[in-house]
Amino acid sequence: MSEEKVKIDQDECIGCEACVEICPKVFGFDEEEGKAYVIDGANSDEECVDEAVASCPAGCIRKE
Ligand code: SF4
Repeated sequence: MSEEKVKIDQDECIGCEACVEICPKVFGFDEEEGKAYVIDGANSDEECVDEAVASCPAGCIRKE
Protein backbone atom coordinates (compact mmCIF):
# COMPACT_ATOMS: atom_id res chain seq x y z
CA MET A 1 0.00 0.00 0.00
CA SER A 2 1.37 3.40 -0.92
CA GLU A 3 1.60 6.38 1.39
CA GLU A 4 0.24 8.70 -1.26
CA LYS A 5 -2.76 10.83 -0.56
CA VAL A 6 -5.08 12.19 -3.20
CA LYS A 7 -5.76 15.93 -3.12
CA ILE A 8 -7.88 18.40 -5.04
CA ASP A 9 -6.80 22.00 -5.60
CA GLN A 10 -10.23 23.52 -5.13
CA ASP A 11 -9.16 26.89 -6.55
CA GLU A 12 -8.68 25.14 -9.88
CA CYS A 13 -11.74 22.87 -9.76
CA ILE A 14 -14.38 23.86 -12.31
CA GLY A 15 -17.09 21.72 -10.72
CA CYS A 16 -17.63 19.35 -13.63
CA GLU A 17 -18.24 16.40 -11.26
CA ALA A 18 -16.32 13.99 -13.51
CA CYS A 19 -14.28 12.73 -10.55
CA VAL A 20 -17.41 12.16 -8.49
CA GLU A 21 -18.96 10.11 -11.28
CA ILE A 22 -15.81 8.10 -11.89
CA CYS A 23 -14.92 7.50 -8.25
CA PRO A 24 -17.77 8.23 -5.83
CA LYS A 25 -16.10 6.36 -2.97
CA VAL A 26 -13.28 8.89 -2.90
CA PHE A 27 -14.71 12.14 -4.26
CA GLY A 28 -17.69 14.05 -2.97
CA PHE A 29 -19.30 17.21 -4.32
CA ASP A 30 -19.95 20.37 -2.33
CA GLU A 31 -23.10 21.75 -3.94
CA GLU A 32 -22.78 25.09 -2.15
CA GLU A 33 -19.23 25.73 -3.28
CA GLY A 34 -19.65 23.99 -6.62
CA LYS A 35 -16.40 22.13 -5.99
CA ALA A 36 -15.35 18.55 -5.51
CA TYR A 37 -13.56 17.40 -2.39
CA VAL A 38 -11.78 14.29 -1.17
CA ILE A 39 -13.91 12.31 1.28
CA ASP A 40 -12.30 12.06 4.72
CA GLY A 41 -10.60 8.74 5.22
CA ALA A 42 -11.10 7.69 1.60
CA ASN A 43 -8.67 5.12 0.22
CA SER A 44 -6.33 7.02 -2.12
CA ASP A 45 -5.21 3.71 -3.61
CA GLU A 46 -8.53 2.96 -5.29
CA GLU A 47 -7.90 2.34 -8.99
CA CYS A 48 -10.56 4.83 -9.96
CA VAL A 49 -8.48 7.63 -8.41
CA ASP A 50 -5.94 7.36 -11.21
CA GLU A 51 -8.76 7.38 -13.72
CA ALA A 52 -10.19 10.52 -12.12
CA VAL A 53 -6.76 12.21 -12.15
CA ALA A 54 -6.48 11.45 -15.87
CA SER A 55 -10.01 12.64 -16.56
CA CYS A 56 -10.09 15.91 -14.61
CA PRO A 57 -10.35 18.66 -17.23
CA ALA A 58 -8.78 21.18 -14.86
CA GLY A 59 -5.87 18.91 -13.95
CA CYS A 60 -6.38 19.76 -10.32
CA ILE A 61 -6.43 16.28 -8.76
CA ARG A 62 -3.04 14.99 -7.73
CA LYS A 63 -1.44 12.34 -5.61
CA GLU A 64 1.43 13.26 -3.38
S1 SF4 B 1 -12.92 16.31 -12.24
FE1 SF4 B 1 -11.59 18.01 -11.58
S2 SF4 B 1 -12.64 19.87 -12.22
FE2 SF4 B 1 -14.14 18.21 -12.29
S3 SF4 B 1 -15.14 18.28 -10.28
FE3 SF4 B 1 -13.47 16.81 -10.11
S4 SF4 B 1 -11.74 18.02 -9.35
FE4 SF4 B 1 -13.25 19.46 -10.11
